[in-house]
Amino acid sequence: MRSTSIAFLWVVAIILFLPPALSQPAASPSIAALPPPLADYHLHIQSRALSDVLRRAAAQDPKLFEGMSPALLNPRSGADALRVLNDAGIRCGVLLSEAYMFTSPYFDVHNIDKDRLTREENAFNVAQAAQSKGRLVAFISVNPLSPAATSEIAYWKRAGGASGIKLHLANSQFDFALPANIQALKQVFLEANKDSFPLIIHLRNRQDFGAAQVNTFVDEILPSAGSLPVQIAHGGGWGGLDDQTIAALSAFSDAIAAHRPGTERLTFDLALVVVDDHTDAAKAQGFVDLMRKIGIERFAMGSDWPALYTPGQYVHLVERELPLKSQEWRVILAHRSDYIPKPPSPRPATSKPNAAAAN
Ligand SMILES: [Zn+2]
Repeated sequence: MRSTSIAFLWVVAIILFLPPALSQPAASPSIAALPPPLADYHLHIQSRALSDVLRRAAAQDPKLFEGMSPALLNPRSGADALRVLNDAGIRCGVLLSEAYMFTSPYFDVHNIDKDRLTREENAFNVAQAAQSKGRLVAFISVNPLSPAATSEIAYWKRAGGASGIKLHLANSQFDFALPANIQALKQVFLEANKDSFPLIIHLRNRQDFGAAQVNTFVDEILPSAGSLPVQIAHGGGWGGLDDQTIAALSAFSDAIAAHRPGTERLTFDLALVVVDDHTDAAKAQGFVDLMRKIGIERFAMGSDWPALYTPGQYVHLVERELPLKSQEWRVILAHRSDYIPKPPSPRPATSKPNAAAAN
């Protein structure tokens, strides 16, 4: 079904793409006083070459992008990412390369050198991060089902500049029921482990998803990560809080409680777990209950900019919609993965404090 496939491009289903016209109910005083997050763990920039290929795909099949913001077809740079981070007072951002788009079955654009373009998109992300004076880090990406996946990862180990690897199983049309797909994903995890690259994975591959797929992932794939940090995108789902997302997070909760291999450094980003200000209160409570069971320190902020919201808009939205306590938000907002540079320590006072200096 074509309209469902739209969900795989970035995250959200076509019906969810409404320009963010959020009403602004007053935040509770404790939420209003929260500091900005240290980092946004889920951002996407895009080179001119990828934007051109997406536009060609849109011209071939206009339905593919129906209802989505035309801005998603425009190039975005590291400077653009820093601008939206600055607006929200966020110091660091994790750029997740969209290089997997070139080998996605959803974009069967002819006459392009997919492996070269994959490399160049990854290089674009790495170069933009390098120019950011330590504020942005880049995760390269591959389609784990592409024959070139492991050699692309090995290249970045040699070349340097990449902080980790992003995988997007929906965009890659991954199938948990196919042993060859499982084997290919396992090879990517083994290569990442060999090269010490942390992983961020958009695990949900299709509408029909939940505990069974998570358990396959935990049984067959995750042990290959060893003690690598592995971040599950979108809180285990693909945007929005539905029963499948909660079932998936519940299966992860069980795996973590059982100390299953590979779960030691498992974290979850909150990118687009809420998509508007009409979140189902029971589902939000169910999600938060699981967050507490898993451990709040395993959750990190992510906006998925530019899919629906700027980082600043999303932080405010998710703080309003998830019923967490102020102290719990502070833990999430301060979340720092090893690849995020440490915040500068406050300068020691050189003279007696006075009223103007104290704040
Ligand atoms: Zn994303």
